Parts: sequence; C-alpha cells; structure tokens
Amino acid sequence: MLSPVTTYDVAIIGAGPAGTACALALRQSGLRVALLDKAQFPRDKVCGDAIPGHALKALRQLDPAFADGLWQLQPLDAVQQSRLVAPNGDSLWMRWKLPSFNSPRTDFDAALLALVRAHSPAEIRENTGLKTLCIEADHVRLITTDGTEITCRLVIGCDGANSVVRRQLLPAPLDRAHHCAGVRAYFSNIKGAQAGLTEYFFTKDYLQGYLWIFPVGQGVYNVGLGMLSETVAKHKVDLKQVLPELLATHPALAGRFDGAQQHGRIQGFGLPLGGGRTVPMSGPRFLLCGDAASLIDPIQGHGIDTAMQSGILAAAQAVACFAKQDFSADFIKQYDAQVAQKISRKLTKSYRLMRFLSNKPWLVNAGVRLARVPGLKPWVQKAIG
Ligand SMILES: Cc1cc2nc3c(=O)[nH]c(=O)nc-3n(C[C@H](O)[C@H](O)[C@H](O)COP(=O)(O)OP(=O)(O)OC[C@H]3O[C@@H](n4cnc5c(N)ncnc54)[C@H](O)[C@@H]3O)c2cc1C
Repeated sequence: MLSPVTTYDVAIIGAGPAGTACALALRQSGLRVALLDKAQFPRDKVCGDAIPGHALKALRQLDPAFADGLWQLQPLDAVQQSRLVAPNGDSLWMRWKLPSFNSPRTDFDAALLALVRAHSPAEIRENTGLKTLCIEADHVRLITTDGTEITCRLVIGCDGANSVVRRQLLPAPLDRAHHCAGVRAYFSNIKGAQAGLTEYFFTKDYLQGYLWIFPVGQGVYNVGLGMLSETVAKHKVDLKQVLPELLATHPALAGRFDGAQQHGRIQGFGLPLGGGRTVPMSGPRFLLCGDAASLIDPIQGHGIDTAMQSGILAAAQAVACFAKQDFSADFIKQYDAQVAQKISRKLTKSYRLMRFLSNKPWLVNAGVRLARVPGLKPWVQKAIG
C-alpha cells in the first residue's frame, strides 16, 4: 500500500557533494526542499579521497565558515606537495595554488550533510532511494524504493554515476571513450609514503589513467588505479587484479609495499568523464549535477569540485525557475549553458590533452623533463591542473 503523498518545491536526489552543495545554496531561497539519499550517513563512496581546492573554494563562496570547519575533520591530511612519476621513472614535484586536503569520503560527505542539517531548512530523508520518476505537466512524481510517493515541482538529480534520474529521463548507452573505471583500497606502512605528499604514477602500458597513493591521515593511504573504460574493455583489464600487480612490479614502487598492510578489500566504481562532447543535463522540470551530468576531469579524475560547482549552479537555476514560474526545457537550458561556460570548457581542454598523450609515453617523459627547466614548471603544471 502506498503512503500519503508528500509535496515539495524541489526534490534533490542524492546527498553527495553535488546534492549537499545544492541544498546549501538553496538554504535562504524560501523553497520547500527535500534532500533524499538511498544511504544512511555516514556512508562510504569509492574515491581517491582527494578533496580539490576548488571544492573548498565553492563552499567558501556559500559561507567561508562552511569551508573553514571542514579543515577540522578527522582523519585529514593537508596536502603540501605532489609527486608525478613519468613512465620512465622521472619525477616532477609540484605545489598546487589552492589549499586542499584528503579525507575519507565516509567522513567528508557526512560532514557536508551535517552542514545541511545545521544551516538549511531542507528536509533530509536518508534510507530513501528513488525508484522511478515521472514528469507531469505541473509537477514531478517520484516513487521511492519503499513505495512512498513524493511530488515536487522541480527535481535535481545528484544521484551519482549510476543516476536513476539520468537513466530514466535522458537514457544513453555507456560511452567508454568518456568513462573511466577506478579501484582503490586503504593501506598503512607503505615505505617512503609521507603525510602531506600525494603521488601519481604513470605507466607506459596504461597512459589513459594512473595509479595513486594519497595519504588520508592517521598513517592510512588511499591507493588506487583508474583507467579509461575503452582501454579496460579493449584489453580486458581486470583492475582489481592489475592494482596489486602494479604495486609489486612498477619500477618506481619496487619494494615499497613489502610489509604494507591492506585494510579492507579493493573496491571499484565508475567515473563519467566530462569534456569533449555535449551531454544534455536538463529538461522540463529537471536538472542533473555532478557525476549524474558526467562532470569528472578527464586528466586528474577529480569530480568533487565540479559536483559542488554544478550543484550551486543548479540551485541558482531552481530559484530562477520559481521566480519566473517557468519550468520548461527551454528556460532550464540556461543551466546547461552555465555549466558549459563555467565547468565544461576546462574539462574539454583536459579531455583533449588526455587523448593526445594517451599513446605517447615519450611525450609524458619529455613533459616531466621539460618541467625541470627553470621557468617552465608553471606552464606544464597549468596544462595538467
Ligand atoms: C575510484 C575513484 C576515485 C576518485 N577519486 C577522486 C578524488 O580523489 N577526488 C575527486 O574530487 N573526485 C574523485 N572521484 C570522483 C568523485 O568520487 C565524484 O566525482 C563525486 O563523488 C561526485 O559527487 P556526486 O555528488 O555527483 O555523486 P556521489 O558522490 O556519487 O553521490 C551520489 C549520492 O546519491 C545517492 N544515490 C544514488 N542513487 C540514488 C537513488 N536512486 N536514490 C537516492 N539516492 C541515491 C548515493 O547514495 C550518494 O550519496 C573518484 C571516483 C572514483 C570512482
């Protein structure tokens, strides 16, 4: 039997970085907002746990105190510098412009949701998965996994890489040329690993991706491998098998994992990449944000920042829709234009660079060598960052 219908102005599906940023951006809108997530927080999310400086900048723009508070999270590792290891073993040492940190997503995402709970009137509904949705003339009808019916006037899909909102409203086959597969596990006692240092390793065989070692605080490291799904499918790569093999055999990692302890199993998840193509992100009475809108950076694989930026842009579009009482696809398309201008343009540059370098290990080696020439490092860093 269905429960009674609940009505909202806006329903945000998914309380990850995109959904929480969107809810925070709507906190003073006067709109009746529901924030639904299928999980109970704190919940895990397979990720490298590197919180990009631009994610903190986006949050700071909503309220500096939101971003400042996150620096108190535990565990946390403040990133001081990065080391990029080319296929030939040469290293490039870098410092990023914006301050950033690493923290397990279990803790980071729970802290974002706590900000929503503390600072926004949004109704948070955990353990509430979206099962189906239907766009009607003057509202959207949502049915949750427990059979509850919810109606809203606008729905914002922030439900990640396997978004139900996207699959039902903008279905499209998986485009492996714009999708990565990633795996990660946690380790401690890795030789030569340091707090404050994030390490990226390229191999000549798998240039459309990289292996990483990111400290996440308290002596624990997030170790993972990401690769373009096209390569994974073409060469039938089993990433869960290749990761331990590379940790044992990559020349720049020789012996570093001898005696290291693995905590938990290797887990994988998809990364829908942005840039290099036009992906529709909206329609009548709906918008998509973050991974649901394929906004991950193709070179570095970060998407927490673009998820939050797009969540904030979606909130502005929602306010405009209610002010004008216009929920048409034509009006909402302004959101796609904003995302294209503020996010996707940069992702397209990254996508082209990733494809260009993908079969040229010698060029990655040369880039690392070039960056050692005084004065050229900022140029190389700008190209990849
Ligand atoms: C292996 C790997 C490593 C990565 N490393 C990094 C990194 O180091 N730094 C970085 O910036 N990015 C990284 N990313 C990308 C990053 O994880 C995503 O871009 C980011 O999480 C996107 O945020 P989101 O809010 O769009 O989606 P998500 O974080 O996936 O949040 C979606 C939310 O929606 C909920 N949900 C899903 N379906 C439903 C449903 N039907 N009903 C209700 N709720 C639902 C989920 O429970 C979840 O809470 C990595 C990704 C992978 C796979």
